Amino acid sequence: STAREIKQREEIESLAFNLERANNRLRQLDKQKSEFVSIASHQLRSPLTSIAGYASLLREGNYGNVPSKMNEPLDRIEQSARLMAESIEDFLNVSRIESGNMKYDFTDFNLREETEHICDDLRGVALRNGLILLFRTDLSGNSIVHADLGKTQQILHNLINNALKYTPKGTITVVVRDDDAKKRIYVDVLDTGIGMNEDTLHSIFQKFERGDKANTVNVKGTGLGLYVALKMAEAMQGTITAHSDGEGKGSRFTLELPRVAS
Ligand code: ADP
Repeated sequence: STAREIKQREEIESLAFNLERANNRLRQLDKQKSEFVSIASHQLRSPLTSIAGYASLLREGNYGNVPSKMNEPLDRIEQSARLMAESIEDFLNVSRIESGNMKYDFTDFNLREETEHICDDLRGVALRNGLILLFRTDLSGNSIVHADLGKTQQILHNLINNALKYTPKGTITVVVRDDDAKKRIYVDVLDTGIGMNEDTLHSIFQKFERGDKANTVNVKGTGLGLYVALKMAEAMQGTITAHSDGEGKGSRFTLELPRVAS
């Protein structure tokens, strides 16, 4: 039976070898895919800048008077260019995350202040959509975090913009609170919008996942925003959680970051 054992060992070794080869091949393909996305996205970016730039020059009357009839098509060009730029940024972020090329620049900053600024910036957009955007704090200590400021702003923008996108009417409430014992700071983004069922809740942080309801409210998106936001939060020792009591019952998204050690 030693001969049988040797044969078995040979078979196992050959299987392991093939598996290893297949794995290497997959890793290589994955890398090529990331490179392709990155190159394609960079190539799309500059013509897009030119489309948006000329639309804005036209609108500002740099090529002569703009008849009022032309405002709407110019608006549409600008809006589409902005949406496309956002999608491209999402693709680039995914390829940066997957190739390990996402760079984080850690500093200490006040999360409450930053969150309040973003709310002030987005309040106008909310009002134009007939929504109220409220900001509150419920802090027992300071709200200084050690994280990448730009990435944190991007996450908050993403969560609040989603709340605006998926809320046909009502209120968006942003709350900054803390847990002194756990040394964590939380930003809740609560909305009175379309909400999510259990199935949707479980998939939204995955790549390209969009809720079934997302398309019916006619909201454009790539389904990459939350995937990117969660990866960024995790890289900063934080996380993002989502909650909803069900469809039509609003949603709550929470960004959690560690308070800076004092
Ligand atoms: P996108 O908005 O481009 O679809 P995201 O990754 O930001 O991509 O969100 C994924 C999905 O999560 C959305 O398609 C939607 O179904 C759901 N979602 C996100 N935010 C909300 C919200 N505030 N209310 C209801 N559903 C939401």
